[in-house]
Amino acid sequence: MLKIGNGRLPRIHQDKLAEYQKDVDKRCSYPEQVKAAKTLFKSRNRKENRTFAAVRKELADLCSGSRRCMYCEDSVADEVEHFRPKDLYPEVVFAWMNYLYACGPCNGRKNGKFVVIDGTGAFIDVTRPCKAPVVPPAAGDAALIDPRRENPMDFLMLDLRETFEFTPIADVGTQDYERASYTIEVLGLNDRDYLVKARETAFRNYHALLSTYGPERDPQRRCVGMRAIRDNDHPTVWWEMKRQQQRWAELANLFAHAPELLDM
Ligand SMILES: [Zn+2]
Repeated sequence: MLKIGNGRLPRIHQDKLAEYQKDVDKRCSYPEQVKAAKTLFKSRNRKENRTFAAVRKELADLCSGSRRCMYCEDSVADEVEHFRPKDLYPEVVFAWMNYLYACGPCNGRKNGKFVVIDGTGAFIDVTRPCKAPVVPPAAGDAALIDPRRENPMDFLMLDLRETFEFTPIADVGTQDYERASYTIEVLGLNDRDYLVKARETAFRNYHALLSTYGPERDPQRRCVGMRAIRDNDHPTVWWEMKRQQQRWAELANLFAHAPELLDM
């Protein structure tokens, strides 16, 4: 999982989203706002809605590879996912920066789950149970790492030598450790065996491409090699290879013959 960034949603569609948001915000009570957020999002998030067609196109452009999910990088992204769930945060149901493009399995796992960190540093699960009263969640920052605003790899380390699983970078007991653990768990980044296997396969492919690229002198073939690396799946694996090469002699040697790839 890598940082996604702002993207470039055209102003006309940003304005339209702001207009849609006003429709929700003007409701008198919080329960009415939640209800409006759900029904209005459902009715506007359609192919024939020009703004949502633009939202989907821009989100697709921000995805890696052939529109891979922004969370797992594995399956096709086809659901506009709210980082802060619309059930809990109707005030950002139409906020561009609250959108990610996710696959069904990731979106299904996260669903309405949300944990916030309050002013004392405590993690509070604000997920609303079925049939519970519709009241605003406790205030706080998100426990889940937000790839639109943060670089998940500042929190997560990918083991490229044995397990191909993510682990928190920070020390046990720190807030960053808890956030990384929560993110790994809620998105199932390690417990879906097909994701772990796909990262291992991606590593072998990147490694093979890098080994071939280094000794190649023909500019055209180097260009093809570079494109093959750029198009390979699971770009987080590549990102981690670049980070870890400084303390992994074999990788450092491969990159020493292709230093330009460190910027890619
Ligand atoms: Zn996914």
